[in-house]
Amino acid sequence: MASKTNIEWTQMTWNPITGCTKVSQGCKHCYAERMAKRLQAMGVKRYRNGFKLTLHEDLIELPFRWREPRLIFVNSMSDLFHEEVPLEFIQRVFKTMVKCPHHIFQILTKRSKRAKEISPALPWPANVWMGTSVEDSRVTSRIKDLQKIPAKIRFLSCEPLIGPLDNLPLDGIHWVIVGGESGPGARPMRIEWVDSILTQCRKKRVHFFFKQWGGVRKDLTGRILHGRTYNEMPSRNGNAALPVGKKSKKIIRLDQQAAAPSSRAS
Ligand code: SF4
Repeated sequence: MASKTNIEWTQMTWNPITGCTKVSQGCKHCYAERMAKRLQAMGVKRYRNGFKLTLHEDLIELPFRWREPRLIFVNSMSDLFHEEVPLEFIQRVFKTMVKCPHHIFQILTKRSKRAKEISPALPWPANVWMGTSVEDSRVTSRIKDLQKIPAKIRFLSCEPLIGPLDNLPLDGIHWVIVGGESGPGARPMRIEWVDSILTQCRKKRVHFFFKQWGGVRKDLTGRILHGRTYNEMPSRNGNAALPVGKKSKKIIRLDQQAAAPSSRAS
């Protein structure tokens, strides 16, 4: 199944797998679990198993049907590298992505160890961006796994950001997304944590995307940081670098000015 999405850093979701199991604190209030159970209760056939891991063979080739180039989040309702997903199935998902060079596919996993281990058995075309979730400092080893995966674009999703991440190893990382938790029971995100990541990204010339403050009502808190939005992302032709030289220095200077206490959004 595929659908348009409100996720700010993508355009479409494609879910050849649904359902998952929790692996770390970032999973505590899993949106996919909440949504899968809701859809099951509504009688949606695709979700008859609720949040139990389910492979959808009939959706593996779905992106072939989309002629217009799209930015596609792969498995927003699961984790492609879940231990119960057979390697052969993952290879078929990759085969589709290889055959659709007009689309950009964004894969996000918390199973970075498995992704790293099986990465030699997978093709890594430029249109496949590979990311891992890093919600706090307990799971930064995922970044080391990601750095060993030969994707052209590697990214971090620091959402839900539930603790400081002051020493991110950003070598070989091209994009960082930051967001606070949203929905019932949302844990708070501190501006100091966000600023620290922004500064680290600027130093390493890594694209920075601020997704949301989050909270129980994320529509009320928005996504303004220091009076502006941060929507940076790698270019679709695979150019991973931020502008170098004078332009880059200017960006850092403007951020520093924006980070002055008087201009803070919260
Ligand atoms: S890995 Fe992702 S989809 Fe799976 S339980 Fe955790 S947050 Fe949910």
